[in-house]
Formats: sequence, C-alpha cells, structure tokens
Amino acid sequence: MASLLPRIERLSSRVVRVLGCNPGPMTLQGTNTYLVGTGPRRILIDTGEPAIPEYIGCLKQALTEFNISIQEILVTHWHHDHTGGISDICRNIHNDSEYCISKLPRTPHREEIIEGEKLKYSYLKDGDVLKTEGATLRVLYTPGHTDDHMALHLVEENAIFSGDCILGEGTAVFEDLYDYMKSLEMLLQMQADLIYPGHGPVVHDACAKIQGYISHRNAREQQILNVLQENAGKSFTSVELIKIVYKVIIVKMLLN
Ligand SMILES: [Zn+2]
Repeated sequence: MASLLPRIERLSSRVVRVLGCNPGPMTLQGTNTYLVGTGPRRILIDTGEPAIPEYIGCLKQALTEFNISIQEILVTHWHHDHTGGISDICRNIHNDSEYCISKLPRTPHREEIIEGEKLKYSYLKDGDVLKTEGATLRVLYTPGHTDDHMALHLVEENAIFSGDCILGEGTAVFEDLYDYMKSLEMLLQMQADLIYPGHGPVVHDACAKIQGYISHRNAREQQILNVLQENAGKSFTSVELIKIVYKVIIVKMLLN
C-alpha cells in the first residue's frame, strides 16, 4: 500500500521535500524534489516533469513558507520526470541571477539543451562537493538506471539523495545491470543512515534497503539461470525469459 505523502514536508532541519505533482505508475506519488540547506538560499535537487503548474505553485509556496530562494539546481539524471520542470522554474520563479543548473554528463558525451530554453547544464564530476549554508553535498556517480545518474551524499546527516537508483517503494528499473549492481554496492559501502529517494517515502533503514535491492537482483539472475539450466540446449529471447521467470513468480505467489 503506497503511503500518502504531503505536497510540502519538512523532513529534517535542512531538507524540505516538494512533490512534483506528477503521480503515475512509474513515478509512484510523483517525483520528489528537495530543497536542501538551512540558510536563505537552498539547493534544489530535481525538478519534476514539464508543464505541471501545480508543481511550480507548490515550489513557490514552499519558498514563501520558509522565506527562502533557490541557490542552484541539481538534477540526478536526464529523465524528464527529473529535468522537465527546469524551464518552468526559470520562467516562473524569479532569481537575482541566472540559475546554475548542474548534472553529470551523458556517457558517451552528447550535448544536452534544456527543453525549450537556451540554457545549458554545467557539468559536475564524481566526488565534486557542493555547499550551501548548513549542507554539504558530495556527488556520487551511480550509473545503471541511466548513464549519467548521480546520487548525492548529504554529509551532515550521513544521508543519500538516491535519485532513481533506489526508490522509497518497489524496485527501480535500469538500463545497465552491471553498472547498476556496482552502484548499489558502492552505496551500500557508504553505510548511510537515511535515503531521500527520487520517488516514494524516506527510507530509514538505508543499508537493509540497499541490501534488499542487491538480493532481489541476484535472485532474479538465479531464476534466469535455473530456466536456462532446466532447458539446456534451448535458446530464449529476453522477452520469452521474462515471461517464464515472471510466470514462475506469479504461480508461486498464488500457491503461497
Ligand atoms: Zn529515472
């Protein structure tokens, strides 16, 4: 059962979550965007989908409520439910100077222009540190969900903004399983206390959650190996394999 998240919520003394107001099967209750810091200017992590006026309204409300403005914008990866709100923020939320919008570059590198704007990203690299009053964020290159995915370590809370690498509920999809598993192992080694995911509620048992993701993937791999062993000599397309593996799971669930 999905937990109901309020649109604006102060999660700690330095983290405020503003929901992207874009609920859907892939986004759970929508994208989580976070205002980070304790001073008058905060770092915004992720921006939700394009053309969601409700989100811009919520973000404005949060800025007013806490009497703060946006120092800069970071996006965890290129997917539109994380970068899509950038243009609307730039157009509708006044800032003293042009917004600095940062992310990791795509691999292989390709030029990225922010939708509908002449704005360009400023590119970060693994290990970069971003600071604002009351918060220090360290960039963690965590590819797998996408080739440009970054998580951010919030040093003061030993917390991780995990983007779409780890979600608050269910499991994440990925482009590259090898990279994804390596990223999960790396995040596990951080021994974080808390995860602020890109979708879904805050994860308080961070290590158990990451370990659960790793075990889940390994179990799926074992199921696939079992199918191949039971059908030695036969070849399968990936679609056929998915059908077989997931059918076994459904049958098991029905028998339990
Ligand atoms: Zn994504």
